[in-house]
Amino acid sequence: MIRDIERFKRTTYDILVIGGGINGAAIAHLAAKRGMKVALLEKGDFASGTSSKSTKLIHGGIRYLENLEVDLVYESLKERHIQLTAAPHLVKPLPFVIPVYEGDKRPLWMMQFGVFLYDLLAGRYRVKPRKNLTREEVVRLEPGIEQKGLKGGVLYYDAQMDDARLCLENVLMADHYGAHVANYAKVVSFVKENGRVAGVKAKDMLGSQEFEVRAKRVICAAGPWTNELLRLDIPGARKKVRTTKGIHIVYKGEISKHAILIGSQSDRRIFFVIPWMGNSLIGTTDTDYIASPDAVKVEKEDMDYLIRESKRVFPALDFSPAKILATFAGLRPLIRKGGSARKVSRKHLFYGSKSGVLFVVGGKYTTYRKVAEDCLNHIHKIYEKEEFKVYGSGATPETAEVAAARSGLEREVIQSLMDLYGARYQDVLKLVEKDPVLKEKVLATPPVIKAQFVYSVETEMARTVEDITDRRLSLIFRGPVSASTLAAISAVLPKK
Ligand SMILES: Cc1cc2nc3c(=O)[nH]c(=O)nc-3n(C[C@H](O)[C@H](O)[C@H](O)COP(=O)(O)OP(=O)(O)OC[C@H]3O[C@@H](n4cnc5c(N)ncnc54)[C@H](O)[C@@H]3O)c2cc1C
Repeated sequence: MIRDIERFKRTTYDILVIGGGINGAAIAHLAAKRGMKVALLEKGDFASGTSSKSTKLIHGGIRYLENLEVDLVYESLKERHIQLTAAPHLVKPLPFVIPVYEGDKRPLWMMQFGVFLYDLLAGRYRVKPRKNLTREEVVRLEPGIEQKGLKGGVLYYDAQMDDARLCLENVLMADHYGAHVANYAKVVSFVKENGRVAGVKAKDMLGSQEFEVRAKRVICAAGPWTNELLRLDIPGARKKVRTTKGIHIVYKGEISKHAILIGSQSDRRIFFVIPWMGNSLIGTTDTDYIASPDAVKVEKEDMDYLIRESKRVFPALDFSPAKILATFAGLRPLIRKGGSARKVSRKHLFYGSKSGVLFVVGGKYTTYRKVAEDCLNHIHKIYEKEEFKVYGSGATPETAEVAAARSGLEREVIQSLMDLYGARYQDVLKLVEKDPVLKEKVLATPPVIKAQFVYSVETEMARTVEDITDRRLSLIFRGPVSASTLAAISAVLPKK
């Protein structure tokens, strides 16, 4: 993927997409696939907004059943199936256990009935059948769990993903179909002719030049920044997006073998403790947020809430600083409506401004493909069914053993490349063939080799150390990144 700012100045695009989060990436991907001339501009790195701060679940969202959003859950379960099929390297089935205690806001029968409905809605898209659990069965599955007051539980299945990479693989697909894409390119104003939008002015955040990009249609998929862009188009416009904050804690070590759904006893929220890259992801919260999206951060009270509720179910947990590997905060860009934050719908809609900018509002990660399809159909409906693929889709042509023998790399290294890049692991192997020095292992389990840093820069448009540590390879979820790893990354980055 080439980052060439000059070519944006030379082309008039059919569609210009603002925002390289999952929605913008997928819109650019599907539009380019439909043969349109597409530009995608992202002010930071791809997925640096909400799309790398999620709970990393591709799920129907069992809790939305409580809000009677049956259509949203059904749609999401169908999308879960599409993502599990298209991107098996990035989206994987995950078993969940719901332990139910005396004093919980939702009794055992309600949880069991909810999961029954969830499976019923999934129908042929079900991952695996659910199971009601006795108290003893819950303890057998998760011995670390609090036993006092435990009534029983439910086992069910959903899916876990790598959110930053799934977004990136949609950007790579856009590029593959001929879209021009750039990270670190911020839209600073709209260009208008006779009151109609004719393009944007953007700023190269790695250089300093401003440049104009012209397009017949402009689509704004700026997530939590939507209100800002809306006001660039219509000064003083009423907000369309309600931003609610969610935080996560990355806890050292695996707390549980299954993802655990915990119903908070202090409010009606639910949150998860999830096995993630050898460690555990705890989250999330849901509180209104009105300051600048650029300033969102984890506050002490967010942490206290998750720590208090997690310790209720896992009393042995030690939340001393050495056990907390990372924390992160993100903002949900929801349709603006009143009422409690957790009850706001995760549905999506489109708002067309007078000048012709189309704003994407709402949605959840799971439904991103449908958001992109609906968005393009909003402009020009096509009726044939589109097969959905991401960059690493497709079967690997050889086993890890065969690829290991061929390349001289360890089987574990090959397996980890296959897990991360899907069928594209071969592109990383080609780098190793050209320069055997790149075989060098930088991290042990799961292994990371130097070639992956080069691949991040040459193929995946990484431009800063964080692009690689936080999103291309998610190293920050595995513990502190060593000085030698940081130096090895810096060495391959393009010189400014
Ligand atoms: C805590 C939390 C947990 C969640 N967990 C889940 C989950 O487990 N499963 C699920 O399905 N959903 C989940 N969601 C929802 C999901 O993550 C979001 O709906 C989705 O990521 C939103 O994507 P987006 O592309 O709309 O926004 P973003 O990812 O924020 O993308 C918008 C992009 O626009 C860019 N941008 C802004 N202004 C400009 C500009 N002027 N010029 C150029 N670019 C600009 C930003 O830099 C940003 O990258 C969660 C959300 C949160 C907050």
